[in-house]
Amino acid sequence: MTRTVAAIVARTPDGPLEPGVVERREVGPRDVRIDVVWAGICHSDIHTVRGDWGAQTYPLAVGHEIAGVVAEVGAQVEGLAVGQRVGVGCMVGSCRDCANCRAGREQYCERGFTDTYGARDADGTITQGGYTASIVVDEHFVLSLPDVLPFEKVAPLLCAGITTYSPLRRWGAGPGVRVAVVGMGGLGHMAVKARGRHGSRRHRAVTDVLEAGRRAGLWCRRPSCDE
Ligand SMILES: [Zn+2]
Ligand SMILES: [Zn+2]
Repeated sequence: MTRTVAAIVARTPDGPLEPGVVERREVGPRDVRIDVVWAGICHSDIHTVRGDWGAQTYPLAVGHEIAGVVAEVGAQVEGLAVGQRVGVGCMVGSCRDCANCRAGREQYCERGFTDTYGARDADGTITQGGYTASIVVDEHFVLSLPDVLPFEKVAPLLCAGITTYSPLRRWGAGPGVRVAVVGMGGLGHMAVKARGRHGSRRHRAVTDVLEAGRRAGLWCRRPSCDE
């Protein structure tokens, strides 16, 4: 039996967000129900609601930077317990069987991962995000949060934070490595903050990226680009 929970929803692509409700599935054997304490705002939320990336089903609750507390666990859940502080990011499902899923790269699931909101879930319903009182998620897509991280500070790490931390980590951007961040918005400032955590306090802002690149001896490798 589904559970009706309070939410902030979009009812149309161009209307305001307003109070409403969404339905949550019953907690399955491997699911956890999370009472949402905090949800960050991502620009993807706005693009999705506006239909910029394709038509949506309304009402729709967005939000994929979700931090909260486990309120219920399924019978087969092993790694999470009621009362635990947890987070959910941009994914709530994938096939778990393809080569990428088996390698821990569910974001590259060959059958497509399930977005936290606005996606067709395995049971045929449309996923609803974190602008809601609670959410039910497969434990595989739930992260455990350390007690030292305040909910409001950890929530934005679950999309903007990981999106910028991941390439810094992948390309070995540790102490002493110079990096360039193009764009100082919701993601770019996260990259600068992450760099600060690694001991880099020297930053220089430029307004003409191409000119700065030329001076630094960089060039564009794209065939279509003459810079
Ligand atoms: Zn996002
Ligand atoms: Zn897969």
